[in-house]
Amino acid sequence: MKNGKVKRYVVPGGAGFLGSHLCDLLLSEGAEVLCIDNLLTGRLQNLRHLEREPRFDFIKADISEPLTAHLTPSRLRGGAIFNLACAASPPHYQADPEHTMLTNVLGTRNLLRLAEDAGARFLLASTSEIYGDPDVHPQQEDYWGNVNPTGPRACYDEGKRAAETLAFDFGRAGRAQVRVARIFNTYGPRMRADDGRVVSNVISQALAGDDITIYGDGSQTRSFCYVDDLVDGLVRLMALEKEPPGAVNLGNPSEIRVLDLVARVLALTGSSSRVTNQTLPQDDPRRRRPDITRAQQLLNWSPRIALETGLPATIRWFAAEKDLTLPMPAA
Ligand code: NAD
Ligand code: UDP
Repeated sequence: MKNGKVKRYVVPGGAGFLGSHLCDLLLSEGAEVLCIDNLLTGRLQNLRHLEREPRFDFIKADISEPLTAHLTPSRLRGGAIFNLACAASPPHYQADPEHTMLTNVLGTRNLLRLAEDAGARFLLASTSEIYGDPDVHPQQEDYWGNVNPTGPRACYDEGKRAAETLAFDFGRAGRAQVRVARIFNTYGPRMRADDGRVVSNVISQALAGDDITIYGDGSQTRSFCYVDDLVDGLVRLMALEKEPPGAVNLGNPSEIRVLDLVARVLALTGSSSRVTNQTLPQDDPRRRRPDITRAQQLLNWSPRIALETGLPATIRWFAAEKDLTLPMPAA
């Protein structure tokens, strides 16, 4: 809350993993939050603790459909929109690729128009996937990427690229103030066990004693950011008064091979799960690490929570969900 005025935020995708943590952070700062979500991959249980929160509201709606019946610009006047709505895990976004593309293109346009009509600032949750299988490493924001436009990941990668294009076009035309965050792999509590992403898969498998699935030989790398760091970066980017020179990478630059991540999870859980190698999915990026110089300079932001802290916290959360006791020290 600044100058005694309550800030209003709309959070499409707020019932999801990142969105629910963002809602919590905004509410903790005294804001009013309206979450819009079609519950495609999000869950009401992520928001259950907010049921009695008078500054929180939820609307079940699909952003790729017209939103005017649910939300008028007057409800948002002076506020801001964080667009996080889009399934983010490959199995989920590939289940209905047409809907993924339309969520990014039509959904983003619907929300940008709302921002324009309401005079609201707009932040797009874009992704490191717009860099595709990068031939520049680490990835800086001025790298244009190496994306297969017709492969199974394209509905998401190209959808997000088109969403970025729309956002910057609205910005250039002075129709809305836009901020674009390129989010790199993020993990933490409230990821779905059936999400399909590597952190949630491997932790669930290790806790259940099931076979661990490493796709390919596990030498591919990712850089994992803990959710609390990430949502802090989103809020800082939204608050930035100065127009950023373009998109802003948000992620943890600490890079790790998938097989080393698996080894850490096995050690932390004390699991005796067997490690199996499965086929590497098509167009799976070989390496990924953000260059976060821009975020550091513009937002004074750097991730604070290393895998050494974030991974045990995430494992504890998954274990509590399954009602398991772990052979590891409590927090
Ligand atoms: P998530 O799947 O947990 O959350 C996405 C939310 O959007 C869900 O609640 C889902 O129900 C909702 N949604 C999907 N399509 C919708 C539609 N058409 N209308 C309304 N709601 C819709 O995923 P997440 O990890 O929380 O990701 C949130 C955002 O951040 C996504 O836009 C994703 O592309 C982006 N992102 C996430 C990561 C990551 O590592 N988590 C990395 C890069 C980018
Ligand atoms: N991966 C894996 N086992 C799994 C799930 C994923 O080895 O059970 C690999 C996947 O092929 C990719 C990396 O882990 O190389 C990260 O996958 P994720 O889906 O989490 O993120 P993304 O590929 O979208 O970066």
